[in-house]
Amino acid sequence: MTETADVVIIGSGIVGSSVAYHLAQAGCTNVLVLEREAHQGKGSTGKSMGGVRAQFSTPVNIQMSKYSIDFFSTFDEVVGHPADYRAHGYLFCATNEKHLAYLKGNKERQNALGVTNVEWVTPEDIVKMVPQLRVDDILGGTFCPTDGFVDPHSVMMGFMLNAREKGVRLWLDTQVTGIDVEARTLGTSAASKQINDRLDATLVPRPILGVHTTRGFISTRVVVNAAGAWAAQIAEMAGAELPVEPLRRQLVPTEPFDQLPQRFPMVIDMSTGFHFRREGKGILLAWNDPDETSGFKTEFDPTFVEKILTRAASRVPVLAEAGVNPRRAWAGLYEMTPDHHAIIGPAPNVEGLYFVNGFSGHGVMHSPASGRVTADLVLKGHSDLIDASQLSVNRFAEGRSLEETAIL
Ligand SMILES: Cc1cc2nc3c(=O)[nH]c(=O)nc-3n(C[C@H](O)[C@H](O)[C@H](O)COP(=O)(O)OP(=O)(O)OC[C@H]3O[C@@H](n4cnc5c(N)ncnc54)[C@H](O)[C@@H]3O)c2cc1C
Repeated sequence: MTETADVVIIGSGIVGSSVAYHLAQAGCTNVLVLEREAHQGKGSTGKSMGGVRAQFSTPVNIQMSKYSIDFFSTFDEVVGHPADYRAHGYLFCATNEKHLAYLKGNKERQNALGVTNVEWVTPEDIVKMVPQLRVDDILGGTFCPTDGFVDPHSVMMGFMLNAREKGVRLWLDTQVTGIDVEARTLGTSAASKQINDRLDATLVPRPILGVHTTRGFISTRVVVNAAGAWAAQIAEMAGAELPVEPLRRQLVPTEPFDQLPQRFPMVIDMSTGFHFRREGKGILLAWNDPDETSGFKTEFDPTFVEKILTRAASRVPVLAEAGVNPRRAWAGLYEMTPDHHAIIGPAPNVEGLYFVNGFSGHGVMHSPASGRVTADLVLKGHSDLIDASQLSVNRFAEGRSLEETAIL
């Protein structure tokens, strides 16, 4: 007998899990989540730094963060599983007038959208928070105390466990290999193909029929693409285009290090983009290498250690004494879009196919909002949380690209 589901979600990372949770919360439980790996979290979710922040530059990202951070603050009670949300804050440090003006503009927008606790900080305030920081060239910065960190694996598991308690099914070890979309004409001749191709060019959507997997065919009318860095491949299976590209991102943990406080915010040196936070007994170092090129590269490059340590020691001189074992460092994939905003919403040419992709480094922190918005769109066709049309894939063809410059 053919398996059926009201909704099939492809990918069980933090985003697919949040969509499953929000659908189940709204009473939609005949949902099947398909994951090709034997365990959840083998994609980008398990590689993430776990940072959450409301300090963005565009209204839609600020709104997504506000909903998500409020959600994380009550996650344990509401979802019934721990998120390990730590409100240690994010501290942006500016070293030139351009960055200062940029932070001031962002702060005004954040305040206007209800994130009222973003504070302006002086170099003296900054030194009080992290005495080891070199501040001779720092002009000021912003600090938001409810920014901080979560444990991405716990959040993902919490969402999925809660959804499964409500009846959602999760199939691990199940790779999606194809998506069937209704043909416009039923023939197989060259003329029939020509008619199909011509009608496809009109973008009038064709309905989804089902999904082929390594465990057989699943009949469904609704597919949510939550396949992270692999999302463009899934879209292509249905004949849809999705501008999402993988980009390697590397993180370097230090050995136990007690020369920085036990508790301090995520610190961002805007002069280089270097940022760091405490992770257990050590420090987790991050830097966006501008020479990185897109591709499915998940090997850690040992030459990255010297590059990042140079930036680290320049801003935090005591970090020159930190031990680093390159074998404990790791790499994962960001899912990048041309304007560094997520793509959420229906595919224009395939009825029943929804995207929730391309988080460009923010998929963990925006997972509550993206799950909620996607569930709203699937069930109601609109969302009260944000104007979802801003994030539709159509924005690229229609010249409505957004631009987020607060990318880490
Ligand atoms: C080093 C690093 C640091 C980061 N730091 C942060 C941070 O501080 N804060 C933040 O918010 N974000 C951060 N991110 C980004 C964040 O991790 C991602 O945006 C987020 O995890 C995306 O979640 P996802 O569920 O969409 O994708 P994934 O977690 O990648 O899940 C996608 C799933 O789809 C499955 N899949 C793919 N193809 C198929 C198929 N054909 N059939 C079945 N299953 C399939 C994959 O196996 C995978 O499990 C970071 C990312 C990296 C790499």
